[in-house]
Amino acid sequence: MKTFVHRGQITKVVFGSGTRSRIPEEAEALECRRVLILCTPGRVDQAAEIRDLLGTAAVGTFAEAAPHTPVEVTRKAVAHAGSVEADCVLSIGGGSTIGLGKAIAVRTGLPQLALPTTYAGSEMSPIVGETEGRRKTTRRPAEALPKTVVYDVDLTLTFPAATSVVSGVNAMAHAVEALYAQDRDPVAFLLAGEALDSLTRSLPVIARRPDDREARADALYGAWLAGTCLGPVDMALHHKVCHVLGGAFGLPHAETHTVVLPHVVAYNGPMAPEAMARITRALPADDAASGLFDFAGKLGAPRALRDLGMPEPGIEQAAELIVRDGYWNPRPVDRTAVRAFLTRAWAGERPWTPAGDEHPRPDSVIEPSVTTGARHA
Ligand code: NAD
Repeated sequence: MKTFVHRGQITKVVFGSGTRSRIPEEAEALECRRVLILCTPGRVDQAAEIRDLLGTAAVGTFAEAAPHTPVEVTRKAVAHAGSVEADCVLSIGGGSTIGLGKAIAVRTGLPQLALPTTYAGSEMSPIVGETEGRRKTTRRPAEALPKTVVYDVDLTLTFPAATSVVSGVNAMAHAVEALYAQDRDPVAFLLAGEALDSLTRSLPVIARRPDDREARADALYGAWLAGTCLGPVDMALHHKVCHVLGGAFGLPHAETHTVVLPHVVAYNGPMAPEAMARITRALPADDAASGLFDFAGKLGAPRALRDLGMPEPGIEQAAELIVRDGYWNPRPVDRTAVRAFLTRAWAGERPWTPAGDEHPRPDSVIEPSVTTGARHA
């Protein structure tokens, strides 16, 4: 008999082509009359279009969003929002911009509208990841969740093929960890499987034809579903690894997820057979870890952490940080095993599943346990 707890979400979602034209009415529905638009320096053209749509309801654009949400950028943005008396923030962009919107919301209580232009999925989760110095921390306050998310497929057409592929694999990683999450529920499992089906179907098409609108819609749909899984269930080892690597070495987010995912799936696979069966069905492939490695490789995605700028001595430091905090994972996490798969990921080697008798020494094992606050993004 199934036993589960399902936590629903309250975000309004508008999905389609040309849906950005609804932004003024969605802002009005939230009683937002002084909207501050957020973007990265590269998205100012799209931000300008939204500003034109909003007319006098737009009070400015803050175009300094940056990866991993540096707190100094957030402080500057909060001051800017205060100076223009914003009553709402609208984030147009990927996870970096949406992360800034969330960080502002938790500090000011301002409602958020989000227009995602990548497949990161942050808009559907209350997880706020922030970087101070070289340390990345996450929390999960309810007020971080955008009130309304408008997915406009047209905004993703400019997303280059190579970055679309890694961003899509980032979304797949949310789905993969939702499939074996300790607190997964039937809804999350179904959403995660459907997300994987959509993304494995659409990303190869986008890699060849980035202007294929149907494939773009399929990928964005998959990204929405995968992002929806991020909110209600706890992510595990994979997200922890990427979170540590991003914070400690400034590695690019989506690319890091793409390189790491097959290695963590290889490690966790023996303890998560139901999840592995769903992944292999979506790919399709005989083995989930090898299938994910080959899938990314065929699409020209990076395979080695060293190619992303990670220094080799960083492997030891990363392994230490990855095992330091308690969090739940389907397979007990140990420094020796983490060091071993990080070494393979660093060099770009195929994933490898350690056998049961090669299991970590008990003294350095993190036993599966529920730890509040163990949310990584
Ligand atoms: P990003 O937001 O940094 O965007 C990458 C680059 O792509 C930027 O230069 C941006 O300007 C450009 N870009 C975005 N959309 C484009 C488009 N349609 N056309 C052309 N260029 C476009 O990258 P990301 O991978 O979306 O987000 C990464 C960040 O999001 C990280 O900080 C990560 O920690 C965070 N994140 C958080 C969560 C969460 O739940 N909290 C989930 C996923 C990612």
